Amino acid sequence: MQNEPLSIAHALEHAARFHGRVEIVTRQTENGSIHRYTYAEALRRTKQLANALQSIGVKSGDRVATMAWNTHRHLEAWYAIAGQGAICHTVNPRLFKQQIVYILNHAEDSVLLLDAAFVPQLEELWPQLTSLQQIIVMTDEEHQPQTTLPNVHCYEKLIADQSDEFTWPELDENTPSSLCYTSGTTGDPKGVLYTHRSNLLHSYAINSGEANGISGRDVVLMTVPMFHANSWGLAYSCPMAGAKLVLPGSQLDGNSVHSLIETEQVTFSAAVPTLWKMLFAHLDKQGGQLDSLRQVLIGGSAVPCSMIEKFEQRYNVHVVHAWGMTEANPTGTMCRLTNEVDSLSPAEKQKIRVKQGKPVFGVNLKIINDEGAELPHDGVTMGRLMIKGLWVMQRYYKAEFDAFDQDGWLDTGDIATIDPYGYMQITDRAKDLIKSGGEWISSVELENIATGHPEVILAAVIGIHDETWQERPLLIVQSATDSNVTGQQILDFMTGKVAKWWLPDHVEFVSEIPLTAAGKINKKALREWYSNRLA
Ligand code: AMP
Repeated sequence: MQNEPLSIAHALEHAARFHGRVEIVTRQTENGSIHRYTYAEALRRTKQLANALQSIGVKSGDRVATMAWNTHRHLEAWYAIAGQGAICHTVNPRLFKQQIVYILNHAEDSVLLLDAAFVPQLEELWPQLTSLQQIIVMTDEEHQPQTTLPNVHCYEKLIADQSDEFTWPELDENTPSSLCYTSGTTGDPKGVLYTHRSNLLHSYAINSGEANGISGRDVVLMTVPMFHANSWGLAYSCPMAGAKLVLPGSQLDGNSVHSLIETEQVTFSAAVPTLWKMLFAHLDKQGGQLDSLRQVLIGGSAVPCSMIEKFEQRYNVHVVHAWGMTEANPTGTMCRLTNEVDSLSPAEKQKIRVKQGKPVFGVNLKIINDEGAELPHDGVTMGRLMIKGLWVMQRYYKAEFDAFDQDGWLDTGDIATIDPYGYMQITDRAKDLIKSGGEWISSVELENIATGHPEVILAAVIGIHDETWQERPLLIVQSATDSNVTGQQILDFMTGKVAKWWLPDHVEFVSEIPLTAAGKINKKALREWYSNRLA
């Protein structure tokens, strides 16, 4: 067999050569207008950018950062940087300022490509940045902002005179291609360095029928940001399949997402539950359908049963629940019903649909107890979830030691069960577990049930100190703006759906549940809020 190394550039080359007229559509960040072009044009401009980056001194192995929403220019940057052997470091602009400073310095990025809207943010951070030498604002000359930053280029001007001929170097497939820092819930953010090999193997796997099943008949709305966990692999897997790509820019509100779904006839999309909540809130208020949409992938945090039911029963959209993490490129599991479970009763099937699913081939899972012994797949026993596989991280960027154990298993920090059919279910993050009277209570399950109440927008459960039980669950609710729902009504709704002793003793209402930069419930902030209230 031939031994051609796996290379990211090949994905875009393939799309341009064999799906050359397929569109990439972007809602532009400058003014919300729509930009359209094809994979063939995307490749030409990507090569111009690759030449431009070399002209300003980028070399193989350099870290080149991006701080940008999902746009055609950001996509070009991903391919131009990694394709030439440099490393594309995606920075999440919603992180705290100090975290952004930390990761730009830690990665020793030499060049940063950013959206014009982030220029003021960068000006503020500039005095603390130690490695950045050149800035490229991803816009045209008309929208190029005035700035006090040094060595600033305008993207369109920079690439305009460059040749669209560029020969991608033949890279070892284990060459690093991209760098993504985890949100850093404990300590400083940690970098995960992906390779050409890990990205392409991951993309083959997620395009398979057992996973996303994306094909050249699909129109994919890439709502998951390119700065969060590698855009769940879609920026590679869509060109590989020849799917039309729709990039929403910075506008992720319900109205904007819905209008793109309608005008571009989107068939597939992927996002965290909070984004779908915003879409539902818009549709509930304004009306509208999701006729073209066949499937949504939901992950990043647990998907409430009510969300699956609403998508499927009201809008005829199939939901696939997925679990992953930055450290795993990111996909670990996807939940699709197999023949074996399809014959179960509707209620049993629904219980499986909310699980995170089975591992995609290429990754392996197990659950262990605190002594490291593997636990049974009985669907009840909870243990620490361990992962290993073809696209699972070995060690954090610049770390001295490997992150996995001597047998190659990485501790995910999640607590899970695995049932006899092989479906994994996350019951908690290790640090979010509530231990009441020595027994574990799953905050995720309580949140799922509470969110099913029609007047609850978001629900979070944290453990609070209790004299008798050491810890008890506290339910924190963000209810609909016009709602008068009481804590007791929510608890009545939850009664009978979990063991009685799991039911929270108290319900607190907040006007807004804080979210992390990745759109997940920020339990750290909620714990702080609660302890400040007690103080
Ligand atoms: P991140 O690296 O920021 O994507 O965070 C990864 C973590 O998010 C995982 O370790 C889980 O704790 C959580 N997570 C991801 N997907 C899910 C899911 N479908 N259900 C519950 N938690 C999830």
